Parts: sequence; structure tokens; C-alpha cells
Amino acid sequence: MEKKIALIGTGGTIAGQGASDTDLTGYTAGVLGLDEILASVPGTEPYGPYTYIQFSNIESSDITVKHWLDLSKLVQQLVDQDDIGGVVITHGTDSMEETAYFLNLTVHTDKPIVVTGSMRPAGAISADGPINLLQAIQVARTPETAGKGVVVVLNGYIDGARDVSKCNTTNVATFDSPLVGHLGIVQDGVAHYYKASTRCHTKDSEFDVRDLKELPRVVLLTCYGGMDDMVPMSVVATNPDGLILTGLGHGTIPQNVRQITQNTKFPTVRASRTGSGMVSAVPQDTLAGYLVSNTLSPQKARILLMLGLTRTKNLKKLQQLFYKY
Ligand code: ASP
Repeated sequence: MEKKIALIGTGGTIAGQGASDTDLTGYTAGVLGLDEILASVPGTEPYGPYTYIQFSNIESSDITVKHWLDLSKLVQQLVDQDDIGGVVITHGTDSMEETAYFLNLTVHTDKPIVVTGSMRPAGAISADGPINLLQAIQVARTPETAGKGVVVVLNGYIDGARDVSKCNTTNVATFDSPLVGHLGIVQDGVAHYYKASTRCHTKDSEFDVRDLKELPRVVLLTCYGGMDDMVPMSVVATNPDGLILTGLGHGTIPQNVRQITQNTKFPTVRASRTGSGMVSAVPQDTLAGYLVSNTLSPQKARILLMLGLTRTKNLKKLQQLFYKY
């Protein structure tokens, strides 16, 4: 018998409902159960059999580190079962890239793990949830998806978890991988790949969260022109385990923020608010004790630093992780 696809519902707009068919922004996310979402998707039967798990039903801005840990453990248990061929997760789009990257680094498998969602609520005019879910299932059933790491499927595109980002507040074409581009497309019920991520993931990842109940506390601080001292001072005073500074341009940190955040007891990583490109190490980083995010977005640099700190506190080793993952 064909192996099952495990469908996991976590909430988001794909499970959302508005007051009317034309309500595309004021709706409530995370209302419908996975069974109700599936009832609106034609054509899933040939890609079965399935098993269903309602993990949560929340807006993805409310996803916490605990959700990531629990979801990672659940997905790991599922892919470890012989009768499971792959996993499809429905998720809100707002923090989808973070959940996908977390799973990409913590679930050890070659089996397909696909994350999808929608930009328009269920039942709304031109709702994109049903086609996205069907295509996510088709991607999970395509043999070439095995070994690609966690992928995000929306709007007919396949993106790798490391590089994908939500790029538009409301458009259905919101997901892109600005630096490296989409990995492929879904068409005629099959995934077509044109590239693969070169970074370490899933079965080759060194991170293991199976026995963890929490992660080191890493916080993000966005820099901006005219920033006063109070903001970085307040953040440093909370004594986090790590800090990601979302710098301007090539991760540039204003001088006054530098004075407050350099050579702290915890690791600090310079990232960029531009949305694409590399933050590379410069000579002043050695003086300030800063690490650099390479091409990871600030929010994903946070995830990598949280996981990295479960392995080492050595700054050189932590920096190497940003070149590897
Ligand atoms: N606010 C929603 C969420 O992230 C947006 C969506 O799913 O598209 O849960």
C-alpha cells in the first residue's frame, strides 16, 4: 500500500474566515479545522492515503518557540514511521518562513516536508488556500522532493526554507527567495525543480531538539536612522543569551548603538534590514566582537543562533554555523 501523507493543521489564513466573501483583510485567522479546509479542496483523493493531525489553530504571529519545539518533535515522530511518505503542514503565512527554517534545521529525514498556507481566507473570492494545499500535496508526492529539505509551496512556486521570505503584505504572490530565486514550480500535478539549496539541512543537520523544552533567549533589535540610546540600552539590560542587530544596508550599526552592543557577554550578530544580500565580516567586527549573518534574514539568523547556542558558546564556532546552514 502507498505510504500516507501526514497533514498537520496549525492555523493561519488558510483556516481563516471573514465576515463576507469580499473581506480580504479583516477576517479571523485559525477558525476552520483541517477537516473543513480539506472539504473545500477537490482532487486530493489520487494523492492519498492521508492521516490528519490538528496541531493548533492559531494566527502564525502567535507561534512561539514552544510551538516550534513541539511541531519539530511531532514531524520527527511522523517521518520516523515506515507508513508515512511525507508531511504537509498548513500554517499562517506571517511566520511561515521561520517555522519552515526551524524544521529544516531540526527534523532529520529525507522524506518530503512541505509547508503551505494562503493569503486569502477560506470561502473568500478567489481564495488561494485550496489550490495551495492541493499543490503542496502534489509536491510532497513528487519523488524529487525527497532530500530537498523543508520546502514552502504557495502560488505555484516551490521555495527552500532557508531562503524564502514573505515579501508582500497581501498579494498571493508574496513568497519569494529574493537572493537565490524559487527552487521550482508545480504544474500538472507534479513538482519541477530547477535548483536545490546548497546549505546543510534536515538529515545532515547537527541540531537535535528532541530532548529540549526551551531554547536560549535570542532577541532582535532593528536599527534605524536617528535611533536613540534608550532602545539598545533597554535590550542589553534584559541580558539575553544572544542578540541579532538588524542593521542598515550591509548590516551597518549606528555608532551610538555600537557603543552599547559591542563586546557584551552574549553573542551579537549583524544582519541587514534590506531583505536580500550578504552581510560579510569587516575588520571592525573583530574589535566589536560581532558575528555576521551571511545571507540569512534577521529572523532566521535568530533561529540559527538559538539552535547554535544549544551546541556551543564559542564565537568562532557560532560564526561557522552561519556559513554552513
Ligand atoms: N495573519 C495570518 C497568519 O499568519 C496571515 C496568513 O496566514 O496569510 O496567520
